Formats: sequence, C-alpha cells, structure tokens
Amino acid sequence: MCSTLPLWGTKNKTGGQLMEWKGFTGNIINVNLTNNEINLSKQNFDDIKQFGGGLGINTKLAADLFEPNIDPLSPENHIIIGVGPLVGTITPGSSRSVGTSKFPATGAIAYSCGSMSFGFNLKLAGYDNIIISGKAEKPIYLLIWDDHIEICDAASIWGKNIIRTHDILSKKYNSCSTIAIGQAGENLVYHSLALIDRVSTFGRGGLGAVMGSKNLKAIVAKGTNSISIAHPKEFTKLFKRLFDRIKNYPHRESWHDLGMLRSLPVGMLFKTAGQNQKARQCSERVYLNQLKKRRIACPSCPMGDKDILKLEEGDSTELIHYATSIINPFLMFTDLDGLNYNHEAILAHDKCNQYGLDYMMVAALLDYCTKLFEKGILTKENSGIEWNTDITTLIHIIEIITYKTEFGELLSKSFDNLSELYEGTSEKLPNVKGLDVVFEPRLLHLGTMEFEQVVNPKGSHVASGGSPTYIGAGSSIEKFKSHFNRMGIPSFAFDNIFTPPVAEMVINVGRLTRYAEDWYTVLTSLGLCARAQINRFYGLESVTELYNAITGFNTTSDDLRKAAERTWNLLKLMNMKENFSRKDDKFPEDWFKPLKFGNKYFKLLDFFGETIITPDIANQLLDDYYDERGWDKITGNPIKAKINELELKSFI
Ligand code: SF4
Repeated sequence: MCSTLPLWGTKNKTGGQLMEWKGFTGNIINVNLTNNEINLSKQNFDDIKQFGGGLGINTKLAADLFEPNIDPLSPENHIIIGVGPLVGTITPGSSRSVGTSKFPATGAIAYSCGSMSFGFNLKLAGYDNIIISGKAEKPIYLLIWDDHIEICDAASIWGKNIIRTHDILSKKYNSCSTIAIGQAGENLVYHSLALIDRVSTFGRGGLGAVMGSKNLKAIVAKGTNSISIAHPKEFTKLFKRLFDRIKNYPHRESWHDLGMLRSLPVGMLFKTAGQNQKARQCSERVYLNQLKKRRIACPSCPMGDKDILKLEEGDSTELIHYATSIINPFLMFTDLDGLNYNHEAILAHDKCNQYGLDYMMVAALLDYCTKLFEKGILTKENSGIEWNTDITTLIHIIEIITYKTEFGELLSKSFDNLSELYEGTSEKLPNVKGLDVVFEPRLLHLGTMEFEQVVNPKGSHVASGGSPTYIGAGSSIEKFKSHFNRMGIPSFAFDNIFTPPVAEMVINVGRLTRYAEDWYTVLTSLGLCARAQINRFYGLESVTELYNAITGFNTTSDDLRKAAERTWNLLKLMNMKENFSRKDDKFPEDWFKPLKFGNKYFKLLDFFGETIITPDIANQLLDDYYDERGWDKITGNPIKAKINELELKSFI
C-alpha cells in the first residue's frame, strides 16, 4: 500500500516549460483513500490571482469539489488542507495551516486554522495543498516526506491518544510534524478535533470525526527543501524592518512571560465576579511560579505564546501538559462551578487534548447537564450517572463522550440530538448553529469577535472576527481609525462604521465585522497568524509588499482585499446550497437575559459597555452587516450584482 511520486519539476509531461512558482510551490497532492490513489496536480494560476493561497485557494478548491448536502461523515466528504505563500519563509508568524471540510457539528462547509510546524513542513516538502477524499478500508496515516508520499498502515497507532500518536510518529521519522486525531475522532464524536504537533487545535466542529470517518489517523509532514523567493533582497529588507519593530516592541517581554494571559487576564475576570478562589488559581503569580515550564513557538514566530505546563500539585504531579494557551484550561473554570483548583482544570484539559475532544464543548455540556440535574429533568435513573460537579465526574464525562458509552452516546452528537432533554424545561444550552458560545458577549461586551460567531455558517468559533474591538484595543475614535487604516478598511466605509443603531454605541459592530472578516481572510490566505500579538505588526500595505517580494507578483492591496471578499462570498454561496440563510444567523435567546457569573449578573452590552443590546438593536446590526457586505437583508445571502462583481457567477 505504497505510492512514491517524483516531485514535478518545471517541465510538464510534454516537455514544455511550466510556470516557475515562487512562494507557492504550485503543487497539490490528491489522495483518494477508497482507491489508494495518490497523484499530483498543479495550482491554477488564475485561481491563485483571484483567491490568494491558504483559506482563499482552499475555498476555491472546495467549491469545485463539494456536492451539496452530502453526509459529513461519508466518503463523499473531502478534507482540504492548504498553506499560504508566506509559509515556509522566515516571515514572523507565517505558520498557518487551513483545513476545509463539511463539519458534522454544524453541517456547514467551513474552515479551521491551526499553527505549529505542519504548514512549514508541507511547504518545504514541496506542496501548497492536500485534498483527501474517499475512505480507507482500514486505519491508515498519510506520510508526506519530500517527494515520497505514502498511505501507511496505522493499525499500531489506532486507539492511541494524540500525544502518544505524535510521539511515536515523530520518533519513527526522526522529527516530523503531525495532524493527528485521538479516540474521540476515531469514534466519530461530533465535538472531536485534531491537534497539530499535539499542541495546536485544528477543526472545532468535528474535523476529528471527519478524519476518523475516513480511517485517517494522522497526516505526517516532513520537508527538507526550501522555498524559492522571487526578490530575496527586497524580502530581506522588509523582514528586517518588521523584525526590528517586533524586537523593539515595549511589551514583548511581558508577552513572553505571560503569553495569552496578558491579553485575557482570566484571574481578573473571576475577581470581578467575586470568585476569589478561582481568581487566585488563575493569577499571573500562580501561573509563573507554579505552572509554567516553558514557552514554545511556531517556526518563525518571535512572539511565541504556546505553553508547556508542569503540574506540581494534585495526583498528577508528573504531568507535562502542552496547551495552545494557558487561558484554555483556565477558561474551563467559567463553566464549571465544581472545579476549584488549577491542577484539576489542567488535568481535564489534558484529557480532552489526549482524546481529541473540544474542551469548550465538554465544559459547556457539563454545565448544561448540571442545570438539568438541578431541575430534576436529568436524574441518575435516566442518565445512569451519579451527578456531581467535581473533577471525578468531569473525567468520567470526558471518557463516556469519547467512547460513546452510556449517556455519553447522546452527548457525543450535535445539540439537535439533545433536544429531547429540553422537554419540560425552558433551559437551553446557549449555542450558535450547534456550537457552544466561545466569546460570551455578556462577559466581554459585543465586539466583532462576539458578533461574527452569529453570522459565520461555521457557528460559534474563535478568531474570524478579530478587530480593534479586541479587549482593550481601539478605545478611542482616533485609535480605531488608525487600526482601520492598518487593516486596509477603505476610508469611504468609516462613516458607516461610526454610525451605530444607537449613537452612544459609537461603533457599528455589524458593519465593522465585514472588514474584520476580510482582514482575517487576507492574513489566513497568506499564511499569517491572526492572533493579536502578531497581527498588530501587519497592515494590508505591508503584507502586500511581502506577498509581492516573495511571489514576484505585482498584486495591489486592493487585489488582496478583493480576493478576501471573493473568498468570503464563495464560502457563503457554498453554504447557501447547504440551506444556510438569515434564519440561521440568530443571537441565542439567552444573550438577552442576564448571565449569572459568580455572584454578579452581566447583561448584553455594546463594546463600550454603555448600551443594552435589545433584540431590535441586534436585528439592526444584522441588517447592517448584510448591507455592508452587499447581501440581501431578508435572505442574508449574496445578491446577483455582488456575485457578478466578484466573478462568482459560475458557482451559483
Ligand atoms: S502568536 Fe502563537 S500561534 Fe501565532 S505564530 Fe506565534 S506562536 Fe504561533
């Protein structure tokens, strides 16, 4: 079961010259697991110009491939992995891999992004994209080692957790990068995801289950070549300028010390809510003195923010835990009243990572079920569980969801399958399109991150709506304007963005979200990390200069902005065929009720915390979002004129 392929050179099969790619490799790996077939195809130059790489080209490839309304866990589903043209160079933060598929938890054709070194290795092996289709007869993993591509037997690693799987493969190939699933993905749990290099989450919404449905345990990438850069002198000049800015950034040291805890001081959040015990457990002091072992970074990132933690308390004092950020285990405290100590949160988070479960979903489910137990709707008799909110119950829940045993079978599916639990109660798990809320606007106020969860077909998620409404950013109109210029928001849009439904709100997050999505798409199509600590050093103009120096193209900033808009519209058109429309873009009803957190109640307020967001204001913000996108306000979908303007007519 082995295929070895020669890397295509610059000549085509008939001997004519093919385009020599810079930045991009120009190569796509196509794998059909049903037939055990592997072949290579070339990138289409026009597609690259129209969509860019990464998220953009993934979306175009998906639009060409996907039949509407397929079962996400059937062989008809595809997994497309793509990396942008900056990945594989030394550009700071150029680490993004994008995965596109139809996700089981939401039924949307959506994307997910991860970092660490998979993209870097894939590029250095000589490829921009992988398209995986069909279903293998038995467990396999895909090996990509320069020009050697092989479908390998995974019998010996099937059933193993992600950390173990990564370690085995890394040892076998003398250091490599992996995208791997754990037992949750193997068992087709809807809340399963993959991890890149056992650290970076990849595929909230069930990419783990999609891999499991294909009997695909892991993808291994190892690249030992290099990327050709079109204008090395120009690139070096741009790189030096950027690197000096990052090196001299006055807060760089504190970023290195605290990582994501610097941008989201979770301890303060608990303190505000009167939860002093949890506040102490998540404090900077405890993190630095008791938990942090060391920090790791993606290749080429001078702002490394991933965590290696070591437990020194509790029953698992030998545990070394890899986390994409310390705030992830800490945030488990927000949902789970029964968790009191950070070693418990880290232990639970580690279990989720090992099994490849989405920890946010697990915590939300547990919180929800606790409420149903308190109301007597769930009982020991109908669930088979002695319900407590302690760590023992939490670990038990993680295991029964992973293995779909007992009550875990019900919890392993989408929220629709839980609807029978709603009978007799008004209690619903706040969710957007079947995914629990990531950015809770009643705690964080309504910025673009919070709003974007509502309008994105992929449902509640992390990051696509990043903008100056990040906590603590853009707090004055002048500051907002300077960020808008950096993100390449056209100045003619400023007036609209500063015209909210109620004057006191100052910012119209509906309108701003359109540009936050476009900026995210530019970054993710080029392969750049969108996290605030890297994103802040980039602007549309500077990324255009880098793109041109690396690829040799003469692309303008407007071209990149247009490619991002085209990508977002195409994604929407695909999901229109999956029957998504405005009816799905709903603010969860719970958001309009106060949230009890600790001993305080929090209402849904605008970004500045002045205006209560009512259902009418929320509806107006949705209208404004569609209007800013040039979409129909009634259906929430692109209109003919926009489709024609973006040359997407062939996709309807
Ligand atoms: S900021 Fe974090 S996720 Fe982004 S490139 Fe750096 S280490 Fe990776």
